[in-house]
Amino acid sequence: MNSMMLKDQNYIAGTYKRFPLEIVSGKGSLVYDADGKEYIDMGSGIAVTSFGIADDAWQEAVTAQLGTLQHMSNLYYTDPCIRLAELLCLKTGMSKVFFSNSGAEANECAIKAARKYSAENHGPDCYTVVTLRNSFHGRTLTTLAATGQEHYHELFSPLTPGFAHVNAEHIEELEALAENTKIAAVMIECIQGEGGVVPLSQEYASAVQRFADEHDIPLIVDEVQTGNGRTGVLYAYMRYGLHPDIVSTAKGLAGGLPLGATLLSEKLQNVFSYGDHGSTFGGNPVCSAGAYSILSRLTDDFLQEVAAKGEYLVNTFTGAPGIKSVSGMGLMLGLATEKPAAEVVAECMANGVLCLTAKDKVRLLPALNIPMPLLEKAAQVILASAK
Ligand SMILES: *Cc1c(COP(=O)(O)O)cnc(C)c1O
Repeated sequence: MNSMMLKDQNYIAGTYKRFPLEIVSGKGSLVYDADGKEYIDMGSGIAVTSFGIADDAWQEAVTAQLGTLQHMSNLYYTDPCIRLAELLCLKTGMSKVFFSNSGAEANECAIKAARKYSAENHGPDCYTVVTLRNSFHGRTLTTLAATGQEHYHELFSPLTPGFAHVNAEHIEELEALAENTKIAAVMIECIQGEGGVVPLSQEYASAVQRFADEHDIPLIVDEVQTGNGRTGVLYAYMRYGLHPDIVSTAKGLAGGLPLGATLLSEKLQNVFSYGDHGSTFGGNPVCSAGAYSILSRLTDDFLQEVAAKGEYLVNTFTGAPGIKSVSGMGLMLGLATEKPAAEVVAECMANGVLCLTAKDKVRLLPALNIPMPLLEKAAQVILASAK
């Protein structure tokens, strides 16, 4: 352990089991450690740096805004967040946006919006939010309650009440729950990210949508990880042909700056009134300028390239020695490996490729614009490490 790592241990709360590696700089999909060693970044800060490190156009948009107006209270109008909200609505068909600073906050807002809608339309005892087992929705006490994985809950009870969990792929569980519980919202990830890169089946996703429509229950799709081009479409719900009432997103939205967004459909667009919700930093001009730069470049042609790169990886890994299966879509992929995932990731790191894990899988979330030669090189290193 070097002196920097010792200081980290002395001064930083011990919530992260860090890799023994200090990243000091980067450009695009390449990052450099303190000794100048180069790595191909297949994690992009957990799906955050959508166009890689220090992307030129993003940097220009962000620095121009930084020198103009870095922050102003939401008591005043500012152009960057308004332009961004308009673009988000134009690209999704949603009607209104609330900006926050993280995925957990975007989900808190989604839950508040759904609870208010359902209380007003179905009565004050209609407050239970149903989520899926193995889901991940954040670390605040309310989004932890939403998260359907017991091991995150331990030691932090009591969590916010009014949540129930059902197993994915069993629509009858949701239907049975509705018989004795007033359901205020159903919240899903189209692909469970932290849960091990597990996509919902089309059949189940459609059944949840039908259930929500029939009971006038807001459907919340958590697109914090799957959103903003990650799966080869703008938002993963679009692949499934869903029409959610609420979409939450964050991670890759602003390309490496903290920004969360909660999108409201036409039906829910007026659910919030003055004072119902707020955020000091939400819609910050610098973060919004960064997000506009990212979102405006997620064109259909660009997203097709993301999908094609994903297909290349799926084809490369499927059936390869040491790889049991490949899951996910676009550039959000999970590899079930014969060796423990942590071992594969450690070997990749030693050979200049940074990968992530999710549950027992190797998880890949490279920058959306990673050049093909780097992707090919990274894939070869991963193949050799998994063998
Ligand atoms: C990462 C993640 C969150 C939490 O986002 P934070 O920005 O860490 O609060 C919520 N939902 C999903 C699906 C995520 O992947």
